[in-house]
Amino acid sequence: MKEQTVAAELKEKLMHKPTNGWTRLTPQQQEEVMRFAEGYTDFLGKAKTEREAVILSVAMLEKANFRPFDPAASYQAGDRVYTVNRNKAIIAAVIGQQPLEQGVRIVAAHIDAPRLDLKQHPLYEADELAYFKTHYYGGIRKYQWATVPLSLHGVVVRADGASVTVNIGEDAGDPQFVITDLLPHLSAEQNKRTLADGIRGEELNVLIGSRPFNNDEEAESVKLQVMNILNEKYGITEADFMSAELEIVPAAKPVDIGLDRSMIGAYAHDDRVCAYPALMATLALDVPEKTVVTVLADKEETGSDGNTGLNSSFLRYFVEDLAECMGAKVRRVLSASQCLSADVNGAFDPTFSDPYEKRNSCYLNYGAVLTKYTGGRGKYDTSDASAEFTGAIRNKMDEAGVIWQTGELGKVDAGGGGTVAKYIANLNVDVIDLGVPVLCMHAPFEVIAKLDLYMAYRAIQTFYC
Ligand code: MN
Ligand code: MN
Repeated sequence: MKEQTVAAELKEKLMHKPTNGWTRLTPQQQEEVMRFAEGYTDFLGKAKTEREAVILSVAMLEKANFRPFDPAASYQAGDRVYTVNRNKAIIAAVIGQQPLEQGVRIVAAHIDAPRLDLKQHPLYEADELAYFKTHYYGGIRKYQWATVPLSLHGVVVRADGASVTVNIGEDAGDPQFVITDLLPHLSAEQNKRTLADGIRGEELNVLIGSRPFNNDEEAESVKLQVMNILNEKYGITEADFMSAELEIVPAAKPVDIGLDRSMIGAYAHDDRVCAYPALMATLALDVPEKTVVTVLADKEETGSDGNTGLNSSFLRYFVEDLAECMGAKVRRVLSASQCLSADVNGAFDPTFSDPYEKRNSCYLNYGAVLTKYTGGRGKYDTSDASAEFTGAIRNKMDEAGVIWQTGELGKVDAGGGGTVAKYIANLNVDVIDLGVPVLCMHAPFEVIAKLDLYMAYRAIQTFYC
């Protein structure tokens, strides 16, 4: 063996060299990584919309002895509660040993994902084909949504006031839907468009039928046939679309990616890949030192506005109600609180490396990604975690053996993005982003690494304990 030179020795001591997480895990830990991903894959396949994620989360919480929060009740250490906001967001809490005024530990993830919402008058017929008009929700690259199988989810509130739940395209044997695109033989003109303009907003029309009602030649009988099928199934009429929330999402099921099965491909990793580990870490809690508050919010993808998004007061009201139950002042509770804003980051993509800054990007399999600040072009729209809070989180994760990395979203002037961090920081809470690197984020089919998912779980678990 050659002796280490002084330089090599000093290098090891002074320089930071991140390494692939798999090289740092024991065989047993490697098995745990693969096992944790199985439960996540199952969750992903069943919860494609924020409403479905809430229903599934409630079932998991109830099974683990969480009960609906009652602001008039009194609570003790170890008590487990949850509250649902308008069927689209949820907060779960476990009461800790310390007084509430020592602060609570919040993890906030979101359960909405980019998709296509039906317009208020969605249904029409053109040249004897029936379609739904859509208005896309969140930041999508529109061309990616054509020629992929789609499903329809949501609720319709009928004229009689009844709310019906719609889910078509997920069960075996269900029909699915599609947005069409031109054939290459005739796309010479369309090919001259820029990629951003490849498929336009008003071209995201979903094909839903082609057969006339009663095989009749009556005008609009293809539309009538579709409406009749929906009426028979859900008791709805065309006017009921005006009071509906119907979402078109990719119909594909989550699958392992890679011969080594190290990755998962699916719709809506952003942000279930953080929501699921947050939920699992909450379910696994016994009696935490500090009270733990897990928030799964809606509306993040459109800027967190609206009463189910975190730019509203629903989280503050919950902490305020909790503070009243425990005889604490909410402003003291919040001012002493800490939060992980659990959201994804853009993983470095070797095929499209240009917009990334290699030294400050996050990488698949390098662990959970701690993002001190988001925003872009001069740190606009970010809360930027303090060195002190970042240091505290860093040390906690290192002590617990969590594999983690840092990551900034792309080159300084390449673009940028935001999370819920700033809205919670505005409540005078210490907040930092922690999440999972994602390839092809916001595409109908996103990719994450199982190791990073597991490390996000471990990071949240460590933060809570
Ligand atoms: Mn997100
Ligand atoms: Mn997103």
